[in-house]
Amino acid sequence: MPEEQLLEEARQLIARSQAMVALTGAGISAESGVPTFRGKEGLWKNYSPEELATPQAFARNPLLVWEWYQWRRGLIAKVKVNAGHLALAQLERMVPDFTLVTQNVDGLHGLAGSKQVLEIHGSIWKTLCAGCGETRENRELELELPPRCSRCDSLLRPAVVWFGESLDQEIMALATAAISRCDLMIVVGTSGVVQPVASFPFIARDKGAAIIEVNLERTPVSSISNLVLLGKAAQLLPRLVPP
Ligand code: NAD
Ligand code: ZN
Repeated sequence: MPEEQLLEEARQLIARSQAMVALTGAGISAESGVPTFRGKEGLWKNYSPEELATPQAFARNPLLVWEWYQWRRGLIAKVKVNAGHLALAQLERMVPDFTLVTQNVDGLHGLAGSKQVLEIHGSIWKTLCAGCGETRENRELELELPPRCSRCDSLLRPAVVWFGESLDQEIMALATAAISRCDLMIVVGTSGVVQPVASFPFIARDKGAAIIEVNLERTPVSSISNLVLLGKAAQLLPRLVPP
């Protein structure tokens, strides 16, 4: 746990901020019980996420990929938001211009009350039709796999961004705009190795923003951060906002 002095400096940066971006990754949901990809619980039936979360894997074996997503959806449906998610929702109410950019697909930020959320890797609770391109909310835990589109009968896929795919241009534009105008970025629980998100803190830094990092361990972002708070997000973030 970082010393009180460091937390106080973080609170002061936050109090002065007029435009903030919080950038979150799997680590913010870890204490809710959602496994991170790179942690030891990231494997499913001995497959790594890199072997399943790709368009090639889906083309080869849509059933297998869907089984993995249904397993993850079942897991996420059971978990609760944690104090870290709630603290970020509280930050949004304090700062005039606040945007939460998340790589998470679990929907927990919205459940915690965050409003300005850009889910740049999509949502595990939506499907995308490979044929007609329709995106739909879908929270069914008992799906016939692989599911098909009720409009055009093509295969449905999870509406998430897979390795090797590009991000939605509209969401990317909104994220880039928020990052360019922020004076403070808080980077929480992301390994900082998945592009293009990994570059976001560097862009903010180049534009003059201060960076606070919250993670269990140091990452590539640490070297450009004003403050690195090492510890669990659900314990540290609540200490940065007034009760
Ligand atoms: P990652 O698994 O690569 O890294 C997780 C990071 O969180 C690590 O740096 C780790 O040190 C840190 N961490 C773990 N527990 C923490 C805690 N309690 N408090 C603070 N930090 C903690 O995740 P990533 O960087 O988000 O990138 C992987 C990709 O995986 C993303 O594209 C994301 O879409 C996807 N993913 C999403 C979820 C989810 O929606 N919850 C879960 C796993 C993976
Ligand atoms: Zn369709």
